[in-house]
Amino acid sequence: MVDNETITFNFQGLFFYRGRVALYAILKALGIGPADEVAIQAFTCLAVPEGVMATGARPLWIDIEPNGFNMDAKDLDRKLTPNTKAIVVQHTYGIPAAMDEIEKVARAHNLPIIEDCCHTLASTYRGRRVGTFGVAAFYSFEWGKPVAVGIGGAAVINDDELRQRVANAYQHYTFPGFKRTLRIQLQYHAFRLLYRPSLYWPVRTLFHTLGNLGLAESNYNPVNTNGIAEDFRLRMAPVLQKRLHKKLQRLKSLNQHSQKISAYYQEHIQTGAVVHPPVPADAHVIFARYPLITHDKRKLLLEAQKANVEMADWYATPVHPLSGESLSLVHYAQGSCPNAEKRGREVITLPTHFNVREKDAERITNFLNNLR
Ligand SMILES: *Cc1c(COP(=O)(O)O)cnc(C)c1O
Repeated sequence: MVDNETITFNFQGLFFYRGRVALYAILKALGIGPADEVAIQAFTCLAVPEGVMATGARPLWIDIEPNGFNMDAKDLDRKLTPNTKAIVVQHTYGIPAAMDEIEKVARAHNLPIIEDCCHTLASTYRGRRVGTFGVAAFYSFEWGKPVAVGIGGAAVINDDELRQRVANAYQHYTFPGFKRTLRIQLQYHAFRLLYRPSLYWPVRTLFHTLGNLGLAESNYNPVNTNGIAEDFRLRMAPVLQKRLHKKLQRLKSLNQHSQKISAYYQEHIQTGAVVHPPVPADAHVIFARYPLITHDKRKLLLEAQKANVEMADWYATPVHPLSGESLSLVHYAQGSCPNAEKRGREVITLPTHFNVREKDAERITNFLNNLR
C-alpha cells in the first residue's frame, strides 16, 4: 500500500510550458539531437513524439504488452538500434510499466530511462514510486491529468549532473506572454464552471469547437516538422505554478478519491460487455482514468453519449489523435505495433477525478451493467 502521508512532492523548480517541453529539455540535456532515436511506446498521444522531434531526433516506436497498456520489454529489446539514445517509459493511466524487465534491457544497452509520469504522481511499483526509476521523469498538469492547473509540465531529474544541465538551460526559458496566460486562465475557469460528469459530452464538444477555431489552447497543434515551435522555449506561467503548489497540498485527498472511485468500478462493474484492466503484481495503482476493454467501442461510446455518461476514447490510435496517413508525420509505420493498434480499437476510459462523486460512479456503473 502507498502511504499517502509520505507523498510530498519535491518538484525541483523546473516548470515548463507543457509536459512535452519538459521531455524536450531532458532530452536536450542528455545531448540528444538529429540522427538520434528515442524509443517510445505506441498507444500514446502526440505530445510525446512532439517532445522528441523538437530535438531533431526521431521516435522509435515500441509496441505495448499483448494484454496491457505499457511498453513491452521484449519488443524494446528487438527494436533498439545503435542510434537509439534514450527510452521513454510511460505509465499509462497510472499503471506502472514493467520496470524490472525494461531496466534490464536499458542496462544491457547502456541507455537512460526517462519516465512519462503524466498520468500519475503517486503509483508505486515494488514499493517504489514511479518517477524514481529513471534518470529523469516528466509530468503534465493540463486538463485531463490528475493534478490539473490549465496547461503545464515539470521535470524531476534524479541525476545531479543532468539536473544541473537542465537547470542551466532553464535559465534561458521565458514565461508565456500575458495574452496566452490569460487565455489559459479563462479556459481553466470556464471549464471549472461548466464541467460536471453529466455535462461531459456537450462541454467536450464546446472545447473541441473552440480549439478548432483557435479560440482555446488545444492539446494538439498541427505537427511541427520544421524547427522548434515557440512553445519549446517557454516556462509555466507563475500564476499556474502557484495554483499547482496549492493543489499539491491536496494530493493526498486527490489520490484517495481516485482510489475510492476506481475501487468502486472494480467491484461493481460486472458485465460481459467489458473486461477490467490487468494490474501488475507488486504495483499500487492510482488511476488517472479507469480503462476497460470492449469489443464494440464505437457502439459503446455512442450509447454513452446518448445516455450522457462520461466515457473517453483515448487512446483511439497508436499516436492519438493521428490516424491513417498522418501517422507518418511522426514516423509511425502502420502495422508496426499491432498490440497498440488493437488496444486503440477496444479501450474506453472512465473518470476517477475529484468531480466524480460516488453517485456518478454508480450511474456509470449501472449504465454499463444494463447494456444489452
Ligand atoms: C498529457 C500527456 C503528455 C504531455 O502533455 P502536455 O500537453 O505536453 O503537457 C505526455 N505523455 C502523456 C502520456 C500524456 O498523457
